[in-house]
Amino acid sequence: MELLAPGGSLEKLKTAVLYGANAVYVGGERFGLRAAADNFSEIELKDGVDFAHKHGALVYLTLNSFLYGEEIQQLRDYLPTLENIGVDGAIVSDIGVFEVVASLSSLPIHVSTQASTINLPHVEFWKRQGARRVILGREVSMAAAIEMRKEAKIEIELFIHGSMCIAYSGNCIISNFTSGRDSNRGGCAHSCRFLYELSFPENGKKEKSYFMSSKDLWGIAQVKAAIEGGIDSLKIEGRMKSNLYVASTTKLYSQLVKDILSGKLEGDDILIKYQNEFLKIPNRHYCDGNLSQYAGMDSIYNDRENEIKEYDFVGVVLEADQSDFMLVEVRRTFYEGDMLELITFEGEDITFKALHILDVRGNRQLKSRPGTLIKMQKISQAAKWNLLRAKI
Ligand code: SF4
Repeated sequence: MELLAPGGSLEKLKTAVLYGANAVYVGGERFGLRAAADNFSEIELKDGVDFAHKHGALVYLTLNSFLYGEEIQQLRDYLPTLENIGVDGAIVSDIGVFEVVASLSSLPIHVSTQASTINLPHVEFWKRQGARRVILGREVSMAAAIEMRKEAKIEIELFIHGSMCIAYSGNCIISNFTSGRDSNRGGCAHSCRFLYELSFPENGKKEKSYFMSSKDLWGIAQVKAAIEGGIDSLKIEGRMKSNLYVASTTKLYSQLVKDILSGKLEGDDILIKYQNEFLKIPNRHYCDGNLSQYAGMDSIYNDRENEIKEYDFVGVVLEADQSDFMLVEVRRTFYEGDMLELITFEGEDITFKALHILDVRGNRQLKSRPGTLIKMQKISQAAKWNLLRAKI
């Protein structure tokens, strides 16, 4: 089974691959659904695809915006570039886009969750059209997804982790009307996360509430069933999220799959071992969405708009092969004496105290400055591209 992680930028793609993703989904500069992400130029896309292939991973490109007529010709012109670069699949929602990609390219087509495919006839319809894979709507349970996989005999992908839409993906227009930003063309303003005032005409009362904001999805308890049920790909949401999120979630799910396959974890042990680690990742409290039963009132994050964040990304290791120090690119200030965690690619993360912070000339620094390179005491397990985090 494939673990599919978000690649919101070239750096995040590389992070995802190194932390255990079998495939990464990315957006080009056009036709995707994350207008505010660091979308890939053609040069970056080539670099990302080459890097992924070198490490045995695949890259899927999102073409899942709904397009107007004049954009279709631009799409036609873009397809040969994608094929030359070696992209491994196109993620598509719009039937017109599907038709163009299918007729003018040999790119495998993955039908996006934006198409809201939630039943077997719908899956079979896409199979007849020539889709390689269907990414089911997030309204589908794991049991139903497994049943559809068995019956339709087409690749099935399912979201296993990340932010949730409160509406059917691809059918939400709250953002269009409240912010003038089209959710189905890459501009969602996340209007469902806003504070709203509810009026109750029957008693004249008013109440402020985040009543449309969903908790985040975690499918830890469902991974074993997905493996046994033949689900082809489990997807982590979050192209707009941080490197730290990409590294942590990818590593944890990758490790979880390995633990399940090797028979190391059974039943509740899975939850006990992984829950605490997932709580270190910024979240809006977790629920299992619709994976085990239809999401209800307890899946609403009726608290505050922002994620709960316990750790921050403070740096990335750029060199770890010197004998006595490692070279770190600083992303957030930390001080001599602070406790940091090195997120290794596999196995336990390493907690250590920042004892020796030096600038590149070897002068002692009491604090690190974002955007600079520093030398630090070497952690023996460190490798190039490992991330460092600190408790907030
Ligand atoms: S407003 Fe919320 S529910 Fe609607 S598309 Fe955006 S994130 Fe999804």
